[in-house]
Amino acid sequence: MRERHKFFLDESRLPTAWYNINADLPVPPSPVLHPGTLEPVTPEFLSVLFPMSILGQEMSPERWIEIPEPVQDIYRVWRPTPLVRALRLEKALDTPAHLYFKNESVSPVGSHKLNTAIAQAFYNKEAGTKALTTETGAGQWGSALSMATHFFGIDLEIYMVKVSYGQKPYRRIIMENFGAQVFASPTDRTHYGRSVLEATPDSPGSLGIAISEAVEVAASSGGAKKYSLGSVLGHVILHQTVIGLESIAQFEMAGEYPDVVIGCAGGGSNFAGFTYPFLHRKFTAGQAIRVIAAEPASCPTLTRGAYTFDYGDTAAMAPVMKMHTLGHTFVPPGIHAGGLRYHGMSPSVSALVDHGDIEARAVQQLATFEAATLFSRTEAIVPAPESAHAIRVAIDEALECKRTGEKKVIAFNLSGHGHFDLTAYDAYRRGELRDHDYPQAAVDEAMAHLPKVGLG
Ligand SMILES: *Cc1c(COP(=O)(O)O)cnc(C)c1O
Repeated sequence: MRERHKFFLDESRLPTAWYNINADLPVPPSPVLHPGTLEPVTPEFLSVLFPMSILGQEMSPERWIEIPEPVQDIYRVWRPTPLVRALRLEKALDTPAHLYFKNESVSPVGSHKLNTAIAQAFYNKEAGTKALTTETGAGQWGSALSMATHFFGIDLEIYMVKVSYGQKPYRRIIMENFGAQVFASPTDRTHYGRSVLEATPDSPGSLGIAISEAVEVAASSGGAKKYSLGSVLGHVILHQTVIGLESIAQFEMAGEYPDVVIGCAGGGSNFAGFTYPFLHRKFTAGQAIRVIAAEPASCPTLTRGAYTFDYGDTAAMAPVMKMHTLGHTFVPPGIHAGGLRYHGMSPSVSALVDHGDIEARAVQQLATFEAATLFSRTEAIVPAPESAHAIRVAIDEALECKRTGEKKVIAFNLSGHGHFDLTAYDAYRRGELRDHDYPQAAVDEAMAHLPKVGLG
């Protein structure tokens, strides 16, 4: 029998509502705290940074939240994305398992990040926001938000982690092409940036530092500018659930249902967007599934971080949330999976790992690039190094099936392509990449700086 490669949903079957896991969480959500007082935050404090409509989604208990028509209309530029059976990868592995991937790399900027960028730009436009500020690591989030703000006629200021600004000029050019302003962080434009530069003039920057700069600019703009975050928060994950909702419909077309779903986890948004609709089925209909979050061994937030209250940024200006964290003072080693270097993790992903609904696995850099190379040689797509962490875990699961003879259905999210990460592939090919375990002493040191939260 001829096997089918791709499962396409017609545009008319684009989901019309996002799935909100708040409705089904098996543990009550923890409060979000003010970074100064460490008391629960007020909506007024957060409304300096975000429009009320977005804050409403953050707290909403509604299971389904309608996708506004103008957002659906831009989604239709590239959505629904294909679900692909990785037949050649299966063959290369000689596994009885069926391997599938959801291909988010086909978006105009090459990753899943547009799913929330479009929604956030829409709600800000509706609220009358004139300009947004944000940070970007490797540049995927910056390029997504620059396209989204351009489509809705909003200005954008981007604080880009300095090491990536140097390593990834092409992403900066995409952002500038859409009309955004891009600065190498730490900058001398903010109090916080200047203080970092004074202490460490050659600071490579970090996501935490860039977040502090973008938050400071918005918070001190007298309401003219709002701030936008590309991961971690509940509303971001909500917007990403379009990935998993489409996937479930596509698995129906394929006549299969996954036994295991896998995503790479930086702040948790593509992972959660892909897997939460499957968890919805587990929580509400008892449909069994294993869910695995893949992270780098050099930034092992879920596997080695503490599950506790911590600041969202390095300067301790952003709200404090209960999450898995390596400490807000964490400055990661310069591994190439730039998008997976955040010190914290989405609070809902953290809670579900803690509760046992999600497994977490750390993978090493060399094994990740080995998996990425096999994937590109069989499926003909160069994956983003971030996505390659999910590919590594999917391959390991498929090899385990080969050992046991089990015919499992394994699915992962291909969060993006690696066309702007080719210098990392070059370094791998030249033997210049190394495995990197985050030292325990650094974990312990960072834990000493956690906020002293009095909540029981
Ligand atoms: C940003 C990014 C990630 C990591 O972010 P999450 O919020 O954890 O999804 C993963 N893959 C790609 C391609 C990215 O651009």
